[in-house]
Amino acid sequence: MTFPPIREELRGLTPYGAPQLDVPVALNTNENPYGPSQACADDIADAVREAALGLHRYPDREHVALREALADYLSRDTPHGIEPAQVWAANGSNEVMLQLLQAFGGPGRTALSFAPTYSMYPEYARDSSTRWVQGRRREDFSLDLDAARALVEAEQPHVVFLPSPNNPTGTALDPAVIGELCAAVGERGVVVVDEAYGEFRRAGTPSALELLPTHRNLVVTRTMSKAFAAAGLRLGYLAADPAICDAIRVVRLPYHLSAVTQATALAALRHAPELLGRVADLRGERDATVAWLREQGWQVADSDANFALFGTFADRHAVWQGLLEQGVLVREVGPPGWLRVSIGTPAEMTAFRDALVHVTAQIT
Ligand code: PMP
Repeated sequence: MTFPPIREELRGLTPYGAPQLDVPVALNTNENPYGPSQACADDIADAVREAALGLHRYPDREHVALREALADYLSRDTPHGIEPAQVWAANGSNEVMLQLLQAFGGPGRTALSFAPTYSMYPEYARDSSTRWVQGRRREDFSLDLDAARALVEAEQPHVVFLPSPNNPTGTALDPAVIGELCAAVGERGVVVVDEAYGEFRRAGTPSALELLPTHRNLVVTRTMSKAFAAAGLRLGYLAADPAICDAIRVVRLPYHLSAVTQATALAALRHAPELLGRVADLRGERDATVAWLREQGWQVADSDANFALFGTFADRHAVWQGLLEQGVLVREVGPPGWLRVSIGTPAEMTAFRDALVHVTAQIT
């Protein structure tokens, strides 16, 4: 008998998560490097003080005011607009996706995505006892629609994760491809377009939100952790048919979003122009980083996100370690030989470039 008496399939597993190291230049978790202003922090503190006076009561279980504010925010990205009844929020988009699998996955059901992709998807499947199937992307990390459709037809999945832009590759999806896959899955399942990095996409790639009126089985997830510069807040959300939100209500824990979280998120949304104000700078810095890496002779995946996947290195761990010794923390993730760097401030990216030149000169 081994202790603790954990579920068989969890025995010996380690928790997911990037190393949390105290380094001068942290470019490993795709955060926004620009924090809130003093005025924004003061407004959040006032909102939390107000919420504190009501802490003897449970919070609004339906988080109505927050869903209204999120619907308003999302409506910028689709000519059809988004109604509050189409919105649902939770503690990070991680929790949103776990709730989706609790409601639409489970024993006897199948979830599917295409690798390389976000490594939490198989963990949500495992934790909800959902069968996990993984297709492959092409060599350039794009999605082969015919192959994807064939896999959907063969596996009959109940949940399909289509991140756009994808993590760790940065690859965005053409909405036409998403529409085709929604049709292939049909109303037997849901298609989750994870737009955690949606605000960073390059001009000309529309959000999947535009497809909501034509595909009832489409779910678009977003987060305030990335472009919105509020990773510490833990607020993720989705837009979908109101019937999908109703299904999630069955599995959510009561009062899952604390009064403090709701007040903070509402105050942050009032400061959306400021918090999102650096997205254009970060896009520019991303494009410059990709161009520089290519000039150095590295392969770089086209990126619509706030990070770049580059390589390939015969010993990527040695490069990761060398960068860390120079005070620059990147992420050892993706296919063998590749590394991922988040886009930081211009000073942080200079430190990254200098460190990479130094480390690769020593190693190669
Ligand atoms: N989706 C993708 C593709 C991500 O990369 C991440 C975070 N790294 C998340 C979802 C979850 O983000 P959060 O829980 O902070 O909203």
